[in-house]
Amino acid sequence: MFPEKFSPPQIDQFILSSVTGKVSALSLDLGGFGISRYAFDHFLYEKAKECGVEFLLNTEAESIHFNGDGFEVKTDEAMLPCDVVVGAYGKRSKLDIHLERDFIGKRSPFVGIKYHVRTDHPANQIALHNFEGGYCGINKVEDDIANICYLAERESLRKCGSIPELERKVLFQNPRLKTLFENSDFLFDKPEVINEISFETKSPVEEHILMTGDAAGMIAPLCGNGMAIAIHSAKIAADIIPAFLNKKISREEMERQYAKEWSRNFAGRLWRGRNIQKLFGNATFSNLAVNIALHSKPVANFLVRNTHGKPF
Ligand SMILES: Cc1cc2nc3c(=O)[nH]c(=O)nc-3n(C[C@H](O)[C@H](O)[C@H](O)COP(=O)(O)OP(=O)(O)OC[C@H]3O[C@@H](n4cnc5c(N)ncnc54)[C@H](O)[C@@H]3O)c2cc1C
Repeated sequence: MFPEKFSPPQIDQFILSSVTGKVSALSLDLGGFGISRYAFDHFLYEKAKECGVEFLLNTEAESIHFNGDGFEVKTDEAMLPCDVVVGAYGKRSKLDIHLERDFIGKRSPFVGIKYHVRTDHPANQIALHNFEGGYCGINKVEDDIANICYLAERESLRKCGSIPELERKVLFQNPRLKTLFENSDFLFDKPEVINEISFETKSPVEEHILMTGDAAGMIAPLCGNGMAIAIHSAKIAADIIPAFLNKKISREEMERQYAKEWSRNFAGRLWRGRNIQKLFGNATFSNLAVNIALHSKPVANFLVRNTHGKPF
C-alpha cells in the first residue's frame, strides 16, 4: 500500500501496565502499523489528487444547508452546491453547533496530551500504561519517532495546575511512565493539547449528511482504532453513494443503508470501547485487567478482538 521510502513500523505486540506498574504482554493477531496523522494525511492527499480530487485548501465549511433536493455548503469564500455531503470534520466543529447536535452542549471530562519523542521503545510494540484517572499509549511512528499520547481527567489537570505537575504527581505513580518520560527526548516545544474529547453517542446521518469517522462517533483511544474506523466508514459511504448519484436508489434509501451499515460495523465496538475505558485509570480495575491478561489469554484476546474490526 505504501511506497518503499515510507514504511511505517509493523506492530504485533501489546503491553499493558496497571496503575502500579504491573505489566502483561499480548500478541496482536490482526497487527497494525504506527504512522503519524501528518504523514498519513499527506499520503492520502497525494493519492486523492492522483485520482482527480479537487481540494480547497485552507478553506473552512461554515454551514451546510439542505434545500430538499441537494445542499448548499457555505465556505468563507463561496457557496458550493452539492448533491451529497459527507461529514468528515472530526470529533467537534462549529458545524456541530450549526447542526444543533445533541452532544455539543455537554462538556467532556477528558483532555488528551500528545508528544513526539525519541526513546528506546521496540518498533513492533504498542504499550498502554495506566495511571490514576487515565492511560497513556506509546508506539513508534515513521522516522524512528515515538508517539506518546495520554488521556487524563480535566479535573485532575485543574487540581495539579499544569501539565508537568500532572505528569509528576499522577502519571509518574506508574513507574513505567516515570522511566519513559525521564528517558525520552521531547521533540515538540510544548505538548499538543486536545480538549473536549467526547465519547457520547452520535448519529451517523444528520440533516441528510452522511457522517464518517469521529463526526459519526469516537471510539475510546485505548482501542487504537479511530483512524481505521474513519477509513472504514468512508469506504462504506463510498460504496453506497454511487447508487444514489446514478439514480438507482433514493436519497432516503442511501441514508437508510448507510446508517444500517454504520451501526452494524461500529455501534457495538464504540459501546464496548466506552465501557472497557471505564475500567482503566483505576488501580483495582487496571490491576485486574493486567491479571486477566496474564492468566487468561483467551479472555484478553476476546476483549481485544471485540473492540477491533475485521480487515475490509
Ligand atoms: C488522545 C487521543 C489518542 C488517540 N489515539 C489513537 C490511536 O492510537 N490510533 C488511532 O487510530 N486513533 C487514535 N485516536 C483517534 C483518531 O485520532 C481519530 O479517530 C481520527 O483522527 C478520526 O479521523 P477523522 O478523519 O474522523 O477526524 P480528524 O482526524 O479530526 O480530521 C478532521 C479534519 O476536518 C477538518 N475540519 C474540521 N472542521 C472543519 C470545517 N468546518 N471545514 C473544513 N474542515 C474542517 C479538521 O481540521 C481536520 O483536518 C486518538 C484520539 C485521541 C483524542
